[in-house]
Amino acid sequence: MLIRFQLDLAIPEKVFNKISKERKAAFISEVRALRALAVKINEGKPNEEMTVKARYHKCYHDEGKACEPEVEI
Ligand SMILES: [Zn+2]
Repeated sequence: MLIRFQLDLAIPEKVFNKISKERKAAFISEVRALRALAVKINEGKPNEEMTVKARYHKCYHDEGKACEPEVEI
């Protein structure tokens, strides 16, 4: 049995910029630490799932422009 997190949070830049540097750093740090504990579901099998990923990017979907490259956490 696994505890599986699935997050996809698109936060407006203006709102995100109001979050303190410390809080952002703590979130990134904790995500990175949890990622290190994560495993792939069905690793090595045809139905393997990539359940060890955490990324963010600057997203311009709403503006119809290309997004910036994803950054691994
Ligand atoms: Zn995007």
